[in-house]
Amino acid sequence: MKLQLTAPVKFLKGVGPKRAEALQRLGIRTAGDLLYHAPHRYLDATTVTPLARAAINQEVTCVGRVVSTGVLPTRRGLRVFRAVLKDESGLLECAWPGRPFLERQIKKGQLLLVTGPVRYYHGKQIVPREFIVLAEAGDDTESNPGVVLPIYPATEGLTHRQIRALVQQHLDELLPLVHDPHPAAFRATHGLIELPKAFELVHRPAKVEDAELGRRRLAFDELFDQQLVQARARHLAKRARAGIRFELKRELTTRLKEHLPFELTADQRHAIREITDDMTAPLRMHRLLMGDVGTGKTVVALFAMLLAAENEYQAAIMAPTELLAEQHGVTLTRLLEPLAIRPELLLGRMTAAEKAAVRERIASGGPRVVVGTHALIQESVTFRRLGLAVIDEQHRFGVEQRAALVEKGDAPDVLLLTATPIPRSLALTLYGDLDVTQIRERPPGRGTVKTALRTDAARSKIYDFIRTECAAGRQAYVIYPVIDESERADLKAATTMAEKLAKTFAEFRVGLVHGRLKADERDGTMRAFRDNAVNILVATSVIEVGIDVANATVMLIEHAERFGLAQLHQLRGRVGRGAAASHCILLSDSSEAAPRLQAFTETTDGFKIAELDLHERGMGELAGARQSGGVALRYANLETDLPLLDAARKAAAAIIAQDPALEKGEHVAYRERIVTRYERGFELFRVG
Ligand code: ADP
Ligand code: MG
Repeated sequence: MKLQLTAPVKFLKGVGPKRAEALQRLGIRTAGDLLYHAPHRYLDATTVTPLARAAINQEVTCVGRVVSTGVLPTRRGLRVFRAVLKDESGLLECAWPGRPFLERQIKKGQLLLVTGPVRYYHGKQIVPREFIVLAEAGDDTESNPGVVLPIYPATEGLTHRQIRALVQQHLDELLPLVHDPHPAAFRATHGLIELPKAFELVHRPAKVEDAELGRRRLAFDELFDQQLVQARARHLAKRARAGIRFELKRELTTRLKEHLPFELTADQRHAIREITDDMTAPLRMHRLLMGDVGTGKTVVALFAMLLAAENEYQAAIMAPTELLAEQHGVTLTRLLEPLAIRPELLLGRMTAAEKAAVRERIASGGPRVVVGTHALIQESVTFRRLGLAVIDEQHRFGVEQRAALVEKGDAPDVLLLTATPIPRSLALTLYGDLDVTQIRERPPGRGTVKTALRTDAARSKIYDFIRTECAAGRQAYVIYPVIDESERADLKAATTMAEKLAKTFAEFRVGLVHGRLKADERDGTMRAFRDNAVNILVATSVIEVGIDVANATVMLIEHAERFGLAQLHQLRGRVGRGAAASHCILLSDSSEAAPRLQAFTETTDGFKIAELDLHERGMGELAGARQSGGVALRYANLETDLPLLDAARKAAAAIIAQDPALEKGEHVAYRERIVTRYERGFELFRVG
């Protein structure tokens, strides 16, 4: 029988039931899947560093025979597994702190590949981040592995060497079976090589650059399939998404523009334009406005709200806390005053009678601009004509809560705001069904935030600095890392810290907020801080310090190494809100974390930091992204493949626009691949 790509992998020579099972664990079910099982890295013999030339503080990849192994305790009680490698140039020790169990895997006589930094610790040693057993003791076949050696993701019972042998054995018979779904012209437009060639280069490259050419093609297809699925989802959603067609009457919106106390930034104008386009189109808007704290999202949202208002609709903005809602109330009142519009405020802490009165007014349709908290989504609240729902800090609401506000209207437009920037590539993957607008630019004339990294040795100097600032009437935050309030030890440390600071700064008032406090107690302290009745606010990281205190100029973060970069950035955003120069001080004694913290001190661009964060946490953290995209990314790298993603997205959108169900002859192959490879694709492209 002739071999087919769809044949179960067990039909391949050299694959018995046991191996078939192991392959299945790697997601390889068919002969074709074996082709898609790409190496996760390549060993390039030309870039391997001879052991004797590994230099301190360098990242190296070395290959050597294991000549001895052992487990040694350090003085801090950590057990370190060590192995000494030997090559023609000499010997080098490898150390794996805290991983004594490696004794069972790494044995004398093996040929080992290690990658990692070189350090000095009683002698030169490499601390491998990764190791690969290239050959067992006595097995000489790989000691000279050609120039480029593909290394495959392996699994228990199936080593990467066995997988490589299997792939090499079958590659020549499988490649002729591969059909390329892209027409030649399409490939030429996007600079893609043919699919069979791509597989060949990925599995049998002569140079590492060849492998990259192959990977690039597989990555494009992966992103393209994913974007076809998302374009299809958007297409179907839009059909069901007829909305209000607002008319740009240039009444309230224009008057707001004329009366603004500042010039809009270019990014703000761009955002307003995109939102206006959405709102004046017949489809419902479903847009996410993403921008760092302080980039001025509120005024952009206000334009949208006024566009609804000048069309005789109501618009509501919902904030996650009372304080934020109050703050919006104040801001909007100020901005709308020249227009003789008063925003209506609905807060949880109002008296029952007050709330009832507000609800009645909202139901009557009188107030066009409504600001509130969760109180807005209570059942008793009805709008006469809600045309736009704005949700601030959207990630702090649950799906149902967001939906509850939207359902107060009859298919209103939806604008989501977030101060958590994520790389655009991730946004496209994560929010494929949303339109995304970014604001990167900050309004001019605001105080800058200087960021510094300090060790505990500088503590008293830092305290002196805080004292000087507070004496000048300014305020400070001191953040303590309590990532999870159930960690009592952490909470205790934060509380003790607050007590200590209260003594150190006896002449000032020190407040403490953490997640275990009752909401009103917490709000009380926050309010006191806002009103400058508390000078120094000690807070745990559980508390999102979601309040704009322009007078606070110092943000001291203890144990900064325990925070993610994105989180640090959020915290830093709490200062620098007034005109005065502000300071963010990271305290950390961790030399390991120093490089990343240092990198953080050097940029204030939230998107850049989001990219660093993505890089730091790696793709493993993107599980959420994978699920929501419905597609796992195996070849594409969201950090580096943004141009590829853009090209794939555009191409996919163009194809879905002219052939939404992928029924035309030249598109059927796309549909087949999507339907067989992705569950979500199956749902969306099901015939009928
Ligand atoms: P965000 O919600 O994005 O964190 P806000 O909307 O609260 O930011 O705006 C922060 C501050 O900047 C507010 O006091 C706002 O009035 C002010 N602001 C907004 N846009 C501008 C601008 N273009 N120029 C000057 N100040 C601005
Ligand atoms: Mg805001």
